[in-house]
Amino acid sequence: MSSVPSQSQSQSQSLTLSHDFADALPALARPWSADPAPEPRLLVLNEQLAGELGLDAGFLRSPAGVDLLVGAALPDGAQPVAQAYAGHQFGGFSPRLGDGRALLLGELTAPDGSLRDLHLKGSGPTPFARGGDGLAAVGPMLREYVMSEAMHALGIPTTRSLAVVATGREVLRETALPGAVLVRTASSHLRVGSVEFARGTGDIAVLRSVVEYAIARHHPEAAAEEVPAPGLFRGVVRAQADLVARWMLVGFIHGVMNTDNMTLSGETIDYGPCAFLDAYDPATVYSSIDTGGRYAYGNQPYIAEWNLARLAEAMLPLFDDELERAVELAQGALAEFRPRFAQARAAGMRRKLGLVAGAGDAVSDDEVEALAGELHEMLERKRADYTSTFRSLSDAARGDAAGLEAALGGDPALTGWLGRWRAHDPDPEVMDAANPVYVPRNHLVEEALAAATEGNLEPLGWLTTVLSTPFTARSGAERYAEPAGPDFAAGYQTFCGT
Ligand code: AMP
Ligand code: MG
Repeated sequence: MSSVPSQSQSQSQSLTLSHDFADALPALARPWSADPAPEPRLLVLNEQLAGELGLDAGFLRSPAGVDLLVGAALPDGAQPVAQAYAGHQFGGFSPRLGDGRALLLGELTAPDGSLRDLHLKGSGPTPFARGGDGLAAVGPMLREYVMSEAMHALGIPTTRSLAVVATGREVLRETALPGAVLVRTASSHLRVGSVEFARGTGDIAVLRSVVEYAIARHHPEAAAEEVPAPGLFRGVVRAQADLVARWMLVGFIHGVMNTDNMTLSGETIDYGPCAFLDAYDPATVYSSIDTGGRYAYGNQPYIAEWNLARLAEAMLPLFDDELERAVELAQGALAEFRPRFAQARAAGMRRKLGLVAGAGDAVSDDEVEALAGELHEMLERKRADYTSTFRSLSDAARGDAAGLEAALGGDPALTGWLGRWRAHDPDPEVMDAANPVYVPRNHLVEEALAAATEGNLEPLGWLTTVLSTPFTARSGAERYAEPAGPDFAAGYQTFCGT
């Protein structure tokens, strides 16, 4: 053995995990540590993300690196905690949720200077487990990895996935499944539910400290205001309006938009029962527990607004000493949600239709809205595949409408629509950058996860590779762009917290 420290050893010694959250918000942080993993085995490592974080992929693949990834061997000074939060779940308030099976290991300072949470999911029961086993199975953790990285590649703000490590522990669900830990990063894990929890302590100082911490990390412009809390609220309203507009534009259904699953940063979080639309129908719901369709695709903007109203209620005492004035401020800020969402969605729809202002006459907002509306009516009537139909528009703009006709052909409105849209000279390059070829289609994700659970990681590798450049068609990857057969699509369901 050499006495010179290897690169791996030097990284482990130089890695620093700060404990900003634990220091700033002790009322929301329970010191805790990960359960040991009997036989940790790295299943996937996101080398690109490791690089962005200044982490050495070689080290992370080494036994010491894998020990770090399951929380077994942390750098000196790390203070892992389980985070407390509350939440409105399907409309009902739960005052005490929190990380039941997750841990914040600490924060990393990335080479770009940003602070990133390093967080584990499936690391054993915490004081917030409420009878749950604190564990996670390989399939669902790989699912979060695939979905979150696909969202990132689509340009949508999201928590990121650094790695999935099989623990060697069995997890009992309907059957015994192999257990895993997901290692994820986020600009923070502060949620609407974090503020609701702080309010629920009845201690205004705790509420104020959460708000100040969120401002410092996510909306620093609010700090300069005479009363900063409404500034934070406005920042969250805007970030969430923009985020949900982007979900809608790619056909993403979060599936469980409880207030504990909504960040203050505006990053998508907690990929449980989420899925992408295939056949276009605003009422689409995949989650097995969402029997009322509360979190259906088309409801998402309304639910986001509802969740933001819960955030405002939790923050009210910091808006103004006088309740009436506080409510007025909250309503004023919340009123920004609808126009902001509409504007973000309209700007995105303009790109999806290739109608950005070019050299010629600009197409009016009303005309874009009318064209988008008619197209969605056709999509719904034909139950056409959302992703591939939009992608076929660029070929149609180039003169080959075969794909579009295959999807919408026979619809009485199609010919008229095509003529009117083409008259605006839509730009296919703009469309190709806005309409993905590849999204994580439900049947492909399930196929890759089933293989991975059996020990074959190859389909997952292909899927993540194709999804990493979603706007570029690859030869040989045609099946990743195609919808599932009707048998699969009809009965598809997703599951929460598995
Ligand atoms: P989710 O539906 O994943 O957002 O989780 C809702 C709440 O249930 C959170 O407080 C989770 O920490 C908790 N939870 C989910 N699954 C488990 C589990 N297996 N063990 C303990 N807590 C869990
Ligand atoms: Mg959650």
